[in-house]
Amino acid sequence: MKFREKKLAHAYLIETNNIDKLIIDLKKLITVINCPHEYQEDCHKCNLCNLITKNNLPNLITIEPDGQMIKKAQIEDLKTAFETKPIYSKYNIYLIKNAEKLNGSSANAMLKFLEEPNEGILGFFLTNNKDIIMPTIKSRCQTLVVNYQNDNLLASLNITESKYLEYQEIIKNYLSQLKTANVFSNKEIVLTKLPERNEVEVMFKIIFEIYHNHFLKNLNKPYDIELTKIYQTAEKNPIIIKKLNIIAKFLQNLRYNVNMELLLDKFIIEMRNIDG
Ligand SMILES: [Zn+2]
Repeated sequence: MKFREKKLAHAYLIETNNIDKLIIDLKKLITVINCPHEYQEDCHKCNLCNLITKNNLPNLITIEPDGQMIKKAQIEDLKTAFETKPIYSKYNIYLIKNAEKLNGSSANAMLKFLEEPNEGILGFFLTNNKDIIMPTIKSRCQTLVVNYQNDNLLASLNITESKYLEYQEIIKNYLSQLKTANVFSNKEIVLTKLPERNEVEVMFKIIFEIYHNHFLKNLNKPYDIELTKIYQTAEKNPIIIKKLNIIAKFLQNLRYNVNMELLLDKFIIEMRNIDG
């Protein structure tokens, strides 16, 4: 993430697939913004950077849901804490974890910060799904999406990040035509770009991951929920579960050496049947 201080908004809404990882990155960003010295990567020299890294900076407040919700009292406490100008750092900064857990009254309490932006206050609303954030909050923030590559995925696929990006391009092309192109030309995308069987396997494992992430986002669950829990909640999201099953079946048949062209045909037809 590259932020430049001159362009800072007073509040950001950031959608991410990994809130904890994002907070680590945001802390780095916050040190860059506040460090009184010529900032260098991982400044350990100065007190301020050390305070931020160790979570001990009084002007940096993280709020997370208290039970099911972020409560109004939590926001009132934040407001009280930020009535005074920061002493150590340039900004009073708040991070709201799982900002979708702001309810009507806590979101209302929040609005004053957002409607009358104070130059010395900087806010970050973090969520797995920006679509379910209260519109009053959303409309007053600059929205960003920061998604992290799943390191485990790359390791398990045994491919490099640049290879992964190549696959992504092919997949984007393939999926965007899945519904519309004729079966033959759709199949050609795969067969010409990825002649090896194990390459097709990697491609479909990535496709599985894409749908899987969609599914998690819809459930608004943490990124790495175990598969067992997913199937327990299957009835809440039958279409995407059906698609995940089709992809899983494809991968299984691939391992059983079923003819590739037949498999690809079958895949397209089954996916189209589900979309109706
Ligand atoms: Zn520093």
